[in-house]
Parts: sequence; C-alpha cells; structure tokens
Amino acid sequence: MFIVFGKKAFYAIFALLLVLTAATVSLLLPPEAVETSVSAPTGKTVWVIDAGHGGEDGGAVAADGSKESNMNLAIARRLDALLVFLGEETRMTRTEDISIHDASASTLREKKRSDLENRVGLVNSTQGAILVSIHQNSLPSSKQTHGAQVTAKKRGVPRSRMRCSSR
Ligand SMILES: [Zn+2]
Repeated sequence: MFIVFGKKAFYAIFALLLVLTAATVSLLLPPEAVETSVSAPTGKTVWVIDAGHGGEDGGAVAADGSKESNMNLAIARRLDALLVFLGEETRMTRTEDISIHDASASTLREKKRSDLENRVGLVNSTQGAILVSIHQNSLPSSKQTHGAQVTAKKRGVPRSRMRCSSR
C-alpha cells in the first residue's frame, strides 16, 4: 500500500516525527542527561528551534540547487507552528533568510563564528531550553548513508561547557 503525501503534509508529518523523536529521546535519557529542562527553576520547557545556516551561509546545496538554509527555515517554521499549537513555548534563532552575526563581523568566517556564538548564547540564556537544531546533511561520497540523524548532549557534560565550534 502506498500513501502519497503533498508537500505540506510531508513537512507536517516530518515536524511531528521530529518532535516525537525529541520527546522520546528526552524521556529515555537519564535525568542528568537532560539537565537543561529538568533543572530549570520553573520546570518550564522552552523549545529553541534553530533553522541552521542562513544569509550568506546557505549550507548544503541539493541536486536541484535548493539551499539547505531555506529548507531548514521552512521546517523550523512548521515545527514552531506545531509546538505553539500544542501549547508549548518556543523561540526561533531566525525567522527569515539571515545570518544572526554581530555587525562587527566582516569576513565570512567571522560572520559564521559570530552567528554560531549568538545561537549558542540564545540557548544558554533561555531557562529550560531544549535545542532542536535543524540541518539537512549531505554526504554524496557515501551512497549507503541516508535517513535522519539525531544527536543529543552527552551525559554528564554540564551546560556551562556547551560551546560552539566552527571551522
Ligand atoms: Zn547544516
């Protein structure tokens, strides 16, 4: 049996699966591994939705020329709408095709570094934050590699050691 979904339905289902995966991961991990949500003084969870890349940094490029940054933003907007509909509190790192770097950054490298630092800063300054960073990775050299990739904070790593890295 085949079920054909329209583009909107696909994104809605994808966003729902993403939320359910994140919720499942957070429930399966021991409490110390999800300290950012468990140890918040208010106990309130805030979903920080990060649409990866943006502006000059388009990220990966699909075979049809589509930029990853635009796909990430489309998914992030739908995820945000879904979470708000479910009564959750959300924050988005960006809501349009921009980089959120400081005005003092001039080179692309500086802009990417500043952008990443500002995203991490938003997460670290949000009590009860659960970060969902959306990316579309590409690995054309490996035909066997496909599907969803989920990463989570390593158990025992304190929140204060969350840092950004860019090369
Ligand atoms: Zn990416």
